[in-house]
Amino acid sequence: MAATPPPLSVMIAGSGAVRAHPQRGGPCFVVRVGARNLVFDCGRLAVHNLSRFGLPVEDVTDVFITHLHFDHICDLPLLLLLSWNNGRTRRLPVTGPRGIADFLELGLRQAYAHDIRSRTSHGKNVSYLDWDVTELTQEGPCLEDADFTIDTLITKHGGLLNFNYRVRSAGRTVVVMSDSEPDPRIVDFCRDADLVLFECSGTKEFYATVPWGTWHATPEDVGALMRAAGAKQVVLKHLVIESFRNQDPQVSEAMAATVRAIHPAAKVFVAADGMTFDL
Ligand SMILES: [Zn+2]
Ligand SMILES: [Zn+2]
Repeated sequence: MAATPPPLSVMIAGSGAVRAHPQRGGPCFVVRVGARNLVFDCGRLAVHNLSRFGLPVEDVTDVFITHLHFDHICDLPLLLLLSWNNGRTRRLPVTGPRGIADFLELGLRQAYAHDIRSRTSHGKNVSYLDWDVTELTQEGPCLEDADFTIDTLITKHGGLLNFNYRVRSAGRTVVVMSDSEPDPRIVDFCRDADLVLFECSGTKEFYATVPWGTWHATPEDVGALMRAAGAKQVVLKHLVIESFRNQDPQVSEAMAATVRAIHPAAKVFVAADGMTFDL
């Protein structure tokens, strides 16, 4: 008899992007598989939202970072500090692009040197603050566990080393896309995926009005790529355009309607903070 597959669920801890949207935290996604709580990106409000939606930071087992834009990493020092404060007793594995080690040395160990000295003076073990960094420089296999595997795809985005992550467990596939220009290689990476979290920062017309518009995917790009891949469920996140349209959720719903029209076989969702999928 086949073994029972490990539980697999995905939680959107932050559906927004750079700007301080009052209803959307910055990028942060949790894949819970077996006993692991894998956190992908750690943007504005990530720590707050993880707690709000039932995952205390000290229970995060692994962190993966897509790229080094501040909206994806600004809460990472806080996650490490707070989980240490709350009693984490093991080094936290952090995987991300080359440069993530420097970010933590400068943005945490050096920036918070006074705090760290103060807390260790009353006996707190500084070794538990520590992190085990894996710096990625190329795409491919990333992590193998008894319950799951993770591999990566590099795509272009803002001139940065930029990783998209794919988690596979017992025949189920979840893809956490980074911010990304459209790329035909995304089709194979998302082939038959059960769930793809895909950025949809705005429409073609919107991108024409901002200097960084070419770094991102349009709803038409997402629809065409996900249709070609045969993705079963698609969640649109990193909804920058809403912050330029008075936080009007209809702007994102209209983008989802475009994706649905191109790929009607998929279930297409507009991400919301706290949204959860069981796979
Ligand atoms: Zn971003
Ligand atoms: Zn970015």
